[in-house]
Amino acid sequence: MNILIINAGSSSLKYQLMDPETGVVSAKGLCERIYIDGRLTHKVGDKKVVKDIPMPTHSEAIQAVLAILVDPVEGVINSTDEIDAVGHRVLHGGMEFFDSCIINDEVIAAIEKCIPLGPLHNPANLMGIRACQAVMPNTPQVAVFDTAFHMTMPPVAYRYAIPTEYYKNDSIRRYGFHGTSHKYVTKRAIELMGRKEMKLVNCHLGNGSSLSAVKDGKCQDTSMGLTPLAGVPMGTRSGDLDPAVVQFVMNKYGMSADECLNMLNKKSGVLALSGVSSDFRDIEDGAAAGNEDCALALDKFAYEVRKYVGSYAAALGGLDCLVFTAGVGENSPEMRERICEGLEFLGVKLDPQKNAVRGKETIISADDSKVTVWVIPTNEELMIAQDTADLVKAAK
Ligand code: AMP
Repeated sequence: MNILIINAGSSSLKYQLMDPETGVVSAKGLCERIYIDGRLTHKVGDKKVVKDIPMPTHSEAIQAVLAILVDPVEGVINSTDEIDAVGHRVLHGGMEFFDSCIINDEVIAAIEKCIPLGPLHNPANLMGIRACQAVMPNTPQVAVFDTAFHMTMPPVAYRYAIPTEYYKNDSIRRYGFHGTSHKYVTKRAIELMGRKEMKLVNCHLGNGSSLSAVKDGKCQDTSMGLTPLAGVPMGTRSGDLDPAVVQFVMNKYGMSADECLNMLNKKSGVLALSGVSSDFRDIEDGAAAGNEDCALALDKFAYEVRKYVGSYAAALGGLDCLVFTAGVGENSPEMRERICEGLEFLGVKLDPQKNAVRGKETIISADDSKVTVWVIPTNEELMIAQDTADLVKAAK
C-alpha cells in the first residue's frame, strides 16, 4: 500500500509517501513559501531536488507534489492511482473527534467547528484537505488529530476549575497535543512489554514537550492543555505558570494579550532561563562550560518533568513503565539521567551503560528496576499511515 501523508501549515506543506506495513518511506519533501512564490524540496533516499514552482494556493502545492511523485526521473510511482489513500495531520479535533476518521462533508464541517480552538493550524490543515480532494477526488482521505489520543481522559483530568459556562459554551478544557506521538509510543510499549494492562507514563521531550499518563492503553491525563503552552517548560514556551503573571506583565509593560502570549510561547522556556538557546544541545554545552544559567535551565526542565512523572504515578496509582521519546528524550542520556535522579522511590533505576544510547529503541533501566524504562523513537508519520490504512481497509 502507498499512503501519502500530508502535514499542511499556513504557508508550507510537508509530505511523505509511505508503506504502512513496513514503514518504508519512498519519497518525502516540503513545499514552502505557498502564497508567496513557491519552492518544492523533494527527497528520495539520499537524493534531493529543489525546484521553484509557483504555488499561489495549497492546490498548486499538492499538484506539484503529485507531479514530482509520478515524474519519470524524480518520481517513485507511475501514476497517482498508486496512492491508495491520503492521511492528513490535523491539529485540533476539539470535542468532536475521539479517533482518526475518513473525511467526508460532516468531518470537514466538524474540523471547521474546531477552528476557534486551533485558529492557526486548523484552517491550514483544511486547505491541505480541500486541495487534495480537488486534485484526487477518488482517493480516500483520512484525518488524524493531534488531540484524539487524549480524549479518553476523565473529567477530573480535563475540566478546568473555572465557571462551567466556559466549558459548556466555549469548550474550554484540557485537550492535550502530540497525541499521534503518544499513541505511537503507547502502542510500541504495549507490543514491547507484551501486555496492555499496565500503568505507563510517556515523556515526549523535544522542542515542544508533553507527558501523558496511560492506563491499560488509554490516556488518563496529559500535561498540555487547551493549547500547547501548558505543562513542562519547553524550548521557547513557559509551560505552567500562575495566570496572574499575564495580567501583571500586561499592566506593567502595556502589552496586549496577544503580545503577552507571544512572549510566553516564543521567548520563554529554556531559551529564557539559559539566555543562550532553545536547543538543548547548546544548553548542555553551555552548562558543561560552566554557564550557571544553562545549568539552571536544565535543572528546571528535569525538575518539572520529574514532578509530572511523580504526579502521574500518583494519578495512576503506580507506575510499571516509563517511556522517553522525541528529540531530547531519544537523544540525551544526560537529561534522562537528571530526570530519573530522585525517582528511585517509585522504583525507577537506570542502568548507566544501557542509558548511554541515542535514537534507538531499547530498555535503559537496570535489570532490578521495578519500573521498566524505555527509549522509544517516535514515528508520528508511521502512526498516521497505519491509522489511514486501517480505516480505508475497514471501509472496503
Ligand atoms: P523535536 O522537537 O522532537 O524534533 O526535538 C528537537 C530538540 O531535540 C532540539 O531542540 C534539541 O534540543 C534536542 N536534541 C536533539 N538531539 C539532541 C542531543 N543529542 N542531545 C540533546 N538534545 C538533543
